[in-house]
Amino acid sequence: MIGICKDCNEEKLLKSRGSNRYYSWCVDCQKIRNKAYYEANKDKCHANGKRWVEKNREKHNATCRNSYAKNKDRHRQNVYDWRVRNEEKQKAYTNFRRRRQRNATPPWANLLQIKQMYMFAQHISKKTGIKHHVDHVIPLNGEVVSGLHVIENLAVVPALDNIRKSNQFDMSVSF
Ligand SMILES: [Zn+2]
Repeated sequence: MIGICKDCNEEKLLKSRGSNRYYSWCVDCQKIRNKAYYEANKDKCHANGKRWVEKNREKHNATCRNSYAKNKDRHRQNVYDWRVRNEEKQKAYTNFRRRRQRNATPPWANLLQIKQMYMFAQHISKKTGIKHHVDHVIPLNGEVVSGLHVIENLAVVPALDNIRKSNQFDMSVSF
């Protein structure tokens, strides 16, 4: 229904409240109200969101996957923008990862073989046109166990699989 919005005083589409009933403010002003509510109740909103995700983990993961597949470029741009905005955080994270990898490299690790593994990943990426990463089979910061940065714990995998696996460790893997 079109009416005069009491927030912006303009003639606009009013916000529906179900079964032919309407609020006295418009759909655009509703967005402003939502934002104001969020700003005033950030902790509560975050806690609610977190609780919902915990209860609906599968649904949430599927939504994320779909959203990523549909808007790959936008997601990549978001990541890039975040890095530009948070250069210091990004640097700290890179240093942290480097340090973690160094700490997970035992003196007996065959550095030449490891280097060849990374070159192999580059080679496969070029050959197939699909970006491949070197992945730690057992993540260096796994929740259950932590792996080492050694040739036996490295595998070349397509990049997207690597991201999806994140730091989860599949307990069914036997070794
Ligand atoms: Zn309005």
